[in-house]
Amino acid sequence: MQHTGEISQPAVMRRRILIGGDWVEAASGEAFPVENPAKRAIIATVPRGTAVDVELAVRSASDAFPAWSAVAPRERGRMLLQVADAMEARLEEVARLIALETGNALRTQARAEARISADIFRYFGGLGGELKGATIPLGDSVLSYTRREPLGVVGAIIPWNAPVLLAALKIAPALCAGNTMVLKTAEDAPLAVLLMAEICQQFLPAGVLNVLTGFGVECGAPLLNHPAIAKLSFTGSTAVGKIVMEAASQRIVPVSLELGGKSPSIVFPDANEDWVVEGIVAAMRFTRQSQSCTAGSRLFLHRSVFDSFLDKLTAKVSTLRIGDPLAEDTDVGTIINERQFNRVCGYIESGLAEPDAKLVAGGLPPTDGPLSEGYFVQPTIFAHTSNDWRLSREEIFGPVLVAIPWTDEADVIRMANDTHYGLAAYLWTHDIGKALRTAHQVQAGWVQINQGTGQSPGQSYGGYKQSGLGREFSLEAMLDSFTQLKNVTVNLTR
Ligand code: ADP
Repeated sequence: MQHTGEISQPAVMRRRILIGGDWVEAASGEAFPVENPAKRAIIATVPRGTAVDVELAVRSASDAFPAWSAVAPRERGRMLLQVADAMEARLEEVARLIALETGNALRTQARAEARISADIFRYFGGLGGELKGATIPLGDSVLSYTRREPLGVVGAIIPWNAPVLLAALKIAPALCAGNTMVLKTAEDAPLAVLLMAEICQQFLPAGVLNVLTGFGVECGAPLLNHPAIAKLSFTGSTAVGKIVMEAASQRIVPVSLELGGKSPSIVFPDANEDWVVEGIVAAMRFTRQSQSCTAGSRLFLHRSVFDSFLDKLTAKVSTLRIGDPLAEDTDVGTIINERQFNRVCGYIESGLAEPDAKLVAGGLPPTDGPLSEGYFVQPTIFAHTSNDWRLSREEIFGPVLVAIPWTDEADVIRMANDTHYGLAAYLWTHDIGKALRTAHQVQAGWVQINQGTGQSPGQSYGGYKQSGLGREFSLEAMLDSFTQLKNVTVNLTR
């Protein structure tokens, strides 16, 4: 593993939250620090939001709702298109802030995240005219039709792993559909989302978008439980997803959940090739330290190619440059924080202690030298004979891949499905019939064949089983998640 040069640190920034179009401190006046995980150094402080701030933000969003929902949908879309243009003009600034606070490498991750986030605003900004209803053919004497109406104030909570993208994915469709929003950022990565909120606020009426910073229990929970919230949209862990759903059940509020994953990558014997190796590295999201719900973290390699494929994969992984997220030659950045770093190291220790597991790449992080300054964990691969041990079952949310051999197709599909998650799957073979038959049997919301890329606007993305409820990224997702259907029936004979 190589490491790259260092970049100087900016001074500590002070940021505020957005309530009713104003940039304010928390009502308590308290703030908390945001860390650069590559240096373990404080780079900013942000307001420590609590129930009082939630109350103010929800009130602003409620007050803004009647006027915003009355704006013609394409006009709302036009404002989102202006946000897209303004984001594109500031891509580098957004990207550098993402890299600084998340530890995701600027070149391989943060720029792409900033770009796709702007594109999300562009995509949904064009969909205002698609909020259509239908007419129901009940005969000439009756006019029966449906309207897509917004729900009201959306409460959104996001995690830190792709903060700007995940915020854009909630803001753009919810607002296009005529809702207003209170969004709580993740405690570890609020800065770039606040910058995006600043860009949004240049074009949106006051109160349409409110953005809070704060901790889960102090700020997230009051948002989940606020009686004026009409819809909850959450991305994060399955454990917190259950809390969100419980809160929603108290008031029968619709809920969208995008949760964890333990996604399989299945390599068939004919796919023992270099491009597949590159695809596996991409699918595992090694250049995002695998802090991704769609990481293909269970690698099922056909027994006939197991050793030779793993040799190629470990050679490829060893060329990834790990180091300062802001340096242009860095491929792999850092884990988000100390807690996650210790958790990931705990999994690696558990792998090293497992008699049937063999470490084939990476391992525990160095305890001295430049990489010990931050939460750097090298891409790590274990080979094991079973899908049943802890590292094959639990979502690690770090760069630890488990390779498992298979021989029988029915058996590998059974192993792939033997998980309570069902977010993504990756299949690698030139035999398209076999690939499609397998794709139809894998229990996952998103199956990719011969590629391991990220999501694109237009696809309906979301999980099976405990990976979530509802879809994001598409027109259908906007209609299902952020509107409610009203039927109007008119007797034409009176
Ligand atoms: P991670 O820590 O892996 O990002 P979490 O699911 O814990 O995943 O956090 C995702 C988001 O959920 C964060 O914004 C966090 O503050 C919020 N959160 C955590 N616990 C709660 C809770 N009890 N109620 C509401 N929000 C919460």
